[in-house]
Amino acid sequence: MIRLPEKLREKIEREALAALPQECCGLLVGADLAVTRLVPSPNLANGNDRFEIDPGLHIGWQRKLRDGKEQVIGLYHSHPTGEAAPSDRDLEDAAYPGWIWLITGLGEKKKPLTRAYRFFDDVAGRRFEQQQIVSE
Ligand SMILES: [Zn+2]
Repeated sequence: MIRLPEKLREKIEREALAALPQECCGLLVGADLAVTRLVPSPNLANGNDRFEIDPGLHIGWQRKLRDGKEQVIGLYHSHPTGEAAPSDRDLEDAAYPGWIWLITGLGEKKKPLTRAYRFFDDVAGRRFEQQQIVSE
């Protein structure tokens, strides 16, 4: 279960639409499995079917949050023409076990739908597991 305030979900979905035809992306900051803020990143990838978060942004926020309760707990990105589900490339590129992945799919009708996953990499293999989103 992922806690995601409604206004943050709406913000991601606005970014997903604004980034068209590219993917939007950014970091999730929070505590445990509760997202408290978004850190939008420029998408450093070439092409409309991929994303790359600015590594400097990631390192900078890890430093900034080092002594606090909040941490970088995951990432978000959009699928401009696809579903709110991890792609094969997402699974290939996933790096931090336990991270939350919020994926906003815009589909053919450009109607945003956001789903939450967590990435795991253990004896059961590399995989995403869908999580329920609770907004408060
Ligand atoms: Zn993706």
